[in-house]
Amino acid sequence: MESITCNINASFLESSSYKKAGRHKKPEGTILDIGGIKIGGKAFVVMAGPCAVENENQLITTARAVHEKGGNILRGGAYKPRSSPYSFQGLEEEGLKLLEKARQETGMPVITEVMDTRKVETVCAYTDILQIGSRNMQNFPLLKEVGHCRKPVMLKRGMNATIDELLLAAEYILDGGNEEVMVCERGIRSFETSYRNTMDLNAVPMLKQLTHLPVIVDPSHGTGHAWMVPYLAKAALAVGADGLLIEVHYDPQQALCDGPQSLTVEQFGSLMEELKVLSKALGRSLFVPETSITRT
Ligand code: PEP
Ligand code: MN
Repeated sequence: MESITCNINASFLESSSYKKAGRHKKPEGTILDIGGIKIGGKAFVVMAGPCAVENENQLITTARAVHEKGGNILRGGAYKPRSSPYSFQGLEEEGLKLLEKARQETGMPVITEVMDTRKVETVCAYTDILQIGSRNMQNFPLLKEVGHCRKPVMLKRGMNATIDELLLAAEYILDGGNEEVMVCERGIRSFETSYRNTMDLNAVPMLKQLTHLPVIVDPSHGTGHAWMVPYLAKAALAVGADGLLIEVHYDPQQALCDGPQSLTVEQFGSLMEELKVLSKALGRSLFVPETSITRT
């Protein structure tokens, strides 16, 4: 009985169908370098910002706060995949311009979603990392298009996708020649309705076993409740993730998108303090850019 279990695990973990994403291709793991910020190494990276870019004041105020509290990369959606066509759809290119402005103001690289093959070139012109959202994880033409880009890509797990499907989707990007890929667990659909999604933290050690690509966790979409986010963020660090994607808004009650799951600036600051302590206890650290390390 024992040996059968072992054999099943061994063949499953061999990850041979993941020709380029498989751990065997790079046992030491991939470390992405986003303007000096290393994702996939010992340090834990935090990407944070509003769900959607709404206006200059909202973005710049939130971006400055995220930076001040130790966030590494600014997130913000300019093209939003909304369930209803009547909901705010994002500022589109205007939003991308504001992200560029926020990058200049804070020095933080930015990550933003691209939903449409026809917009890949435009989004690439402004962003440091392309985000492929949950709903587009198996949009194969889009995966092929970003596979031809020279921009790092964060691929989010589809809400109904298995780990196998996520890694095969990553293969499309890698197979196109783009080697700078990370994957993101953002919660999956389950029978549970008391939170927005079921945060599948099992995925983190499993992905770390199967692939050399960095693994990010998004506890904002994973829970849908701001008060739950710090718990799952800390759990993500403990379970071995390489970083977080967190929604922060300077005034969540006024947010045009995902306010209930967005942390206030103060809540984000407290979480960063807790992550600092926890990362040390786990033999890791929060990522601090070279330029902000005070040399004595
Ligand atoms: C987002 O990051 O704002 C987003 C839309 O996420 P997901 O694709 O995981 O729903
Ligand atoms: Mn969101």
